[in-house]
Amino acid sequence: MSENVYQFIDVQRVDPRKKPISARKQSFVEIYEPFSETQVNSQADRCLDCGNPYCEWKCPVHNYIPQWLKLIRTGRILEAAELSHRTNSLPEVCGRVCPQDRLCEGSCTLEEEFGAVTIGNIEKYITDTAFKMGWKPDMSYVVWSDKKVAIIGAGPAGLGCADILVRNGVKPVVFDRHPEIGGLLTFGIPSFKLEKEVMQKRREIFTEMGVEFKLNTEVGVDITLDEILAEYDAVFLGVGTYQSMRAGLENEDAEGVFDALPFLIGNTNHVMGYAEDKQAYIDMANEKVVVLGGGDTAMDCVRTSIRQGATQVTCAYRRDEENMPGSKREVKNAREEGVEFTFNVQPKGIVVDEHGKVAGVKMVKTQLGEPDENGRRRAEEVAGSEHVIEATKVLMAFGFKPHKMDWLEPYGVEINHWGGINAPEKGEFTHQTTNPKIFAGGDIVRGSDLVVTAIFEGRNAAEGIMDYLGV
Ligand code: FAD
Ligand code: SF4
Repeated sequence: MSENVYQFIDVQRVDPRKKPISARKQSFVEIYEPFSETQVNSQADRCLDCGNPYCEWKCPVHNYIPQWLKLIRTGRILEAAELSHRTNSLPEVCGRVCPQDRLCEGSCTLEEEFGAVTIGNIEKYITDTAFKMGWKPDMSYVVWSDKKVAIIGAGPAGLGCADILVRNGVKPVVFDRHPEIGGLLTFGIPSFKLEKEVMQKRREIFTEMGVEFKLNTEVGVDITLDEILAEYDAVFLGVGTYQSMRAGLENEDAEGVFDALPFLIGNTNHVMGYAEDKQAYIDMANEKVVVLGGGDTAMDCVRTSIRQGATQVTCAYRRDEENMPGSKREVKNAREEGVEFTFNVQPKGIVVDEHGKVAGVKMVKTQLGEPDENGRRRAEEVAGSEHVIEATKVLMAFGFKPHKMDWLEPYGVEINHWGGINAPEKGEFTHQTTNPKIFAGGDIVRGSDLVVTAIFEGRNAAEGIMDYLGV
């Protein structure tokens, strides 16, 4: 560990090396090389250990960042891994996919003048390295109760909930309709951001800890909620939001127009060799692809299209680059890989050829007006600026809203005005729904958001469940 408190001046912020662009454009493996031990030590040593760690406050799970940076720079990896798992159920995932520029790193004291400490990549390094060294969470202290909780959904919310329950001696049984755990981590986020082996390793770890997974099991189809309620002491719903939003564009159902998620799921099934019967592969090879939207999902679509061999990929977004909702890091990565960006344009309709197939997107230019109720400046159309962007395939990435859950209707769980489940953080038992035995968290409660916020809610809901069960 360096004695030099001005290490942040002598040592610049460094991000891990990226693989060559030519390789990135063709492969579905992560684009970053891992940090070396020397790099991690010197990057961790840049932390000022400021008295009031803004990074920790801005991190949604309130990771003990300065403390694990201190442990890592003295080589105490296993202690760092233990500490990291005290606040986060999937630190190696968050290190890979959190938009750190908006969260921990964006609020690092060094950010403006010297470049933030590379927190995310160090978080990922700690758990990856600890796993390689054979580390497993210590469960020797656990005293098992006789309580059993059913978790519906093996996404980050469900896994966060299972992690806290099992560490407190409550048996979690996790149901998911997919053949692998992870939810959108496995079936939404592409493997060039998060390799699928990461979740497979997590499944091993959770299973050894005592979490039971019932995969390929859809609640409402393969098992009823009645059966689950009869067998378990409480239920947690971490079912995500799966209804793709549409813009109501003219010809939006034309041949060659697809929603983002089926495209991404089909690609993952193809790359991973999962059964394709439920979601088929949509091939962008030799196509001119236009992706509508500017968030993380849009970035995943453009970069997947490039890797599938599209001849031209354009992301069309209605505000400017500064106001894009996704991670700036992913926009930069997309641009490096050859994606073109068209800002300040609003789609008005899909242009079709004489066979009804996509030929382009009708656009109108926009300018930024007054802020809306969320403080974001509205995109206002510029009169007379209509034009067409050529396309042979269009992907719509306008976000997600809750899907319909008929199987939940008879159980008195209140659904709110936008279709989400009401499960307030500040109820009698945190994240309890209007059915006392049922709790909920993640995207289905807060709306489509982030991996780390879903983990946080799942963990909090577990605390609510344990209070409810009196354990
Ligand atoms: P999900 O991850 O959606 O998991 C819900 C699980 O419930 C699924 O596995 C589903 O199969 C299961 N399920 C639903 N109904 C049933 C049923 N009836 N029976 C059995 N199982 C059921 N966030 C980031 O922080 N960084 C990113 O880079 C990022 N990129 C994203 C890219 C894409 C393409 C998308 C769509 C989202 C992205 N997000 C990202 C957002 C993030 O993935 C979500 O906010 C997060 O996964 C929500 O977690 P969840 O557990 O609430 O739901
Ligand atoms: Fe940063 Fe996300 Fe890790 Fe928190 S969980 S320290 S926000 S990368």
